[in-house]
Amino acid sequence: MTLTDNAPDQGAVARPATFDSLNPRTGDVAGTYPVHGEADVRAAVARAREASAWWGSLSFDEREDRLTTWKGVVTRRIAQLADVMHQETGKPHGDAMLECALAIDHLAWAAKHAGKVLKRHKVPSGLVMANQKATVEYRPLGVIGVIGPWNYPVFTPMGSIAYALAAGNAVVFKPSEYTPGVGVWLADTFHEVIDQPVLQVVTGLGDTGAALCRAGVDKIAFTGSTGTGKKVMAAAAESLTPVLIEAGGKDALIVDEDADLDAAVDGALWGACANAGQTCAGVERVYVHERVYDEFLSKVVAAAQEIDATDDPQAKIGPITMPGQLDIIRRHIDDAITKGGRALVGGPEAVGERFVQPTILVDVPQDSSAWTEETFGPTMTVAKVKDMDEAVALTNDSRYALGSAVFSKSRGMKIAERLRVGMTSINGVITFAGVPSLPFGGIGDSGFGRIHGPDGLKEFTYAHAIARQRMKPLLALTTFKRTEKAEQQLGKMITMLHGRGSTLPK
Ligand code: NDP
Repeated sequence: MTLTDNAPDQGAVARPATFDSLNPRTGDVAGTYPVHGEADVRAAVARAREASAWWGSLSFDEREDRLTTWKGVVTRRIAQLADVMHQETGKPHGDAMLECALAIDHLAWAAKHAGKVLKRHKVPSGLVMANQKATVEYRPLGVIGVIGPWNYPVFTPMGSIAYALAAGNAVVFKPSEYTPGVGVWLADTFHEVIDQPVLQVVTGLGDTGAALCRAGVDKIAFTGSTGTGKKVMAAAAESLTPVLIEAGGKDALIVDEDADLDAAVDGALWGACANAGQTCAGVERVYVHERVYDEFLSKVVAAAQEIDATDDPQAKIGPITMPGQLDIIRRHIDDAITKGGRALVGGPEAVGERFVQPTILVDVPQDSSAWTEETFGPTMTVAKVKDMDEAVALTNDSRYALGSAVFSKSRGMKIAERLRVGMTSINGVITFAGVPSLPFGGIGDSGFGRIHGPDGLKEFTYAHAIARQRMKPLLALTTFKRTEKAEQQLGKMITMLHGRGSTLPK
């Protein structure tokens, strides 16, 4: 299927203008795609609505079969998908392969577990309603609009797409203008397996995303900046369309005095610099126990000096995908230095025209943007803490609250449980994202709602509760024929069931 075939039918609509997706490593054109307008997006949603009736009527097993076939196609062509991603984002091939592999694993999990999590099941009806059989089922919402980012253009949107499809919805996907080819590739391979517009792609700039928010979908799943997330939510509010917002973070990594320092250094560096730091749950802040601070710093500085960002396709760090991001990274580093911070590695000169070299900042005042705003570059800001109480307090003192990491041999779980964030990895970084049964998402400015796991399946459904009378009630309560005796018996029963805990503890 060609790119043009994949474009929604234009019908009477004038052929839209096109835009180029550029290779950030070289500046070359990686592909040219249509800018879909309001009418195109509405037409795609109308087609999805029809397809959702068929897709939603299939059994979980039938959907699992089809999604498993698609998974096989994606898996067999993983190198091709990774290459499209490499061209559009500049990320190293190995990183692109890892991202595809994780997305495939999530697709497999969602397809396999949807029935178990969502199909009608019995729940306890309680003593008062003992004559009722209570069941609940999670039904597909219908059509889900997915607005995706460019930093993980397969893994992140697939966290919504795979789970929404497995739950029985049709999807209209608007990829970032920096990675349209990846979105088209996913939809094309899907269409090879399923000959219905159950997964469609609309391409374009921000306006195409805005049009999707107004196109009458049943839910919007958005990943991107907090600012755009607010615009998406405001647009969706007009039609009371629910939204799922995954809006980035300022994740902290905590190093306790008993941590395996080599592992902590490795985790901090990879968490901060992998994907050139363009990771919503990447490490941006590091808090280290004072007893191991100096040793951690000397090790992390030595390790950071070993890696650099270059245009070599085998480089460990690729370019910054979105040119505008270079200014943000430069501003955060400059702000840290101006306010008295020091760069032990990198610094202002680390920000080039396409690439940013690893940068480690210390002695940075807490009000600096290097601590407070999402940098989205290969930088980490490190501070010494006197104990883990201080590390926990500083970690929690952020308007973002997405992921986090703790390195400690004996107290990892205790520290993790005190963190006010959506996710934590202990003695590892971002490991939670690869576990399909764990929910992924944040709170505060990091957004709300969850992808992945049972929560991620339920996110794209509505609950349908049924109470079926199995026998006549012992106490007839929901009738105008209710007697005084029945009311008295209810009073006794409620006192017996719940009265004991009602006195205040002395
Ligand atoms: P945006 O939030 O602008 O874009 C995210 C997605 O939303 C893209 O598909 C974008 O389309 C689309 N979009 C833009 N405007 C609208 C709108 N009004 N209505 C609906 N959809 C819209 O992120 P950027 O790509 O500009 O990145 C900016 C910052 O966001 C980065 O500096 C980074 O801090 C953060 N970010 C966080 C991510 C995360 O994973 N949490 C991912 C990406 C960015 P288009 O690309 O065509 O404009």
